Amino acid sequence: CFIQMKILLNNSDLNEALHSVSNLGFVPTMGSLHNGHISLIKRCLKECKETIVSIFVNPNQFNNKYDYKKYPRNYKKDLSILKKLNVNFVFFPKKNDVYYYKRKFPIKINLNDHILCAKFRKGHFEGVLDVMERLTKIIKPQKIYMGEKDFQQLYLVKKHISKIFKSKIISCKTIRDKNKLALSSRNLLLNKAEISKAGKIARDLIFFKKKLIKKKNYKTLLLNKKKELINLHNIKIDYLELRNISNLKSTVQIRKSKLFIAYYINRVRLIDNY
Ligand code: AMP
Repeated sequence: CFIQMKILLNNSDLNEALHSVSNLGFVPTMGSLHNGHISLIKRCLKECKETIVSIFVNPNQFNNKYDYKKYPRNYKKDLSILKKLNVNFVFFPKKNDVYYYKRKFPIKINLNDHILCAKFRKGHFEGVLDVMERLTKIIKPQKIYMGEKDFQQLYLVKKHISKIFKSKIISCKTIRDKNKLALSSRNLLLNKAEISKAGKIARDLIFFKKKLIKKKNYKTLLLNKKKELINLHNIKIDYLELRNISNLKSTVQIRKSKLFIAYYINRVRLIDNY
């Protein structure tokens, strides 16, 4: 049956709307919604009595001004998507709604976790953990739905949030297009040729990871694959690494591992894992 979606523009709207809600599922996003987000939202709708989606392009998690400025914003389209999905609440906070109090202690990422994107994007995950703590505090959801596409984010948020709140983090599979490119709001910044290049890279790495099962000497194979991708596609690669999925430690074992990549096509940074 049809329900009227409530648009919450600030904390008092939110508190008023949520005061009697139990079994609430939360899908945090930065908007420019695509089928990746939609799969999280559909799962939330199925598993929770009520669903809230937030749209907030969090300035504090961008380590690069250009990236923040260029980040795609499509609020009108987002709203119409959310309405059609029958989401109960959409939260559109302003910066002051999220950052209305000062933290007592700054967020610190463990030295062991200064790997992958934490190594290449200084301050990024500190910004992510801070905003996730703030949103969870305001919204108090039973469950929070997040994508494996951002695997390291999921890993760090799970660790951080479970220390403070009862909210459960639910991890959701990566949604890809027909060429295997992981959906991402940043794909909107790529032209057709670049989209097709990114799809080729994804298919290449999915196949490469499968073949690793029978091989030895991963370090050299990974290094060679990195060089090959750079030469073939004229891209800049931050990292291409095999890591254990439960602790993100470097590994040479294919079991319970994922292959992680971050790279730039022109100035657009893409990440994925296989
Ligand atoms: P973002 O709007 O990029 O911050 O993403 C919001 C949430 O959607 C995060 O939990 C992401 O991991 C998730 N997400 C983004 N892209 C995908 C995708 N292709 N498949 C599944 N989840 C995704």
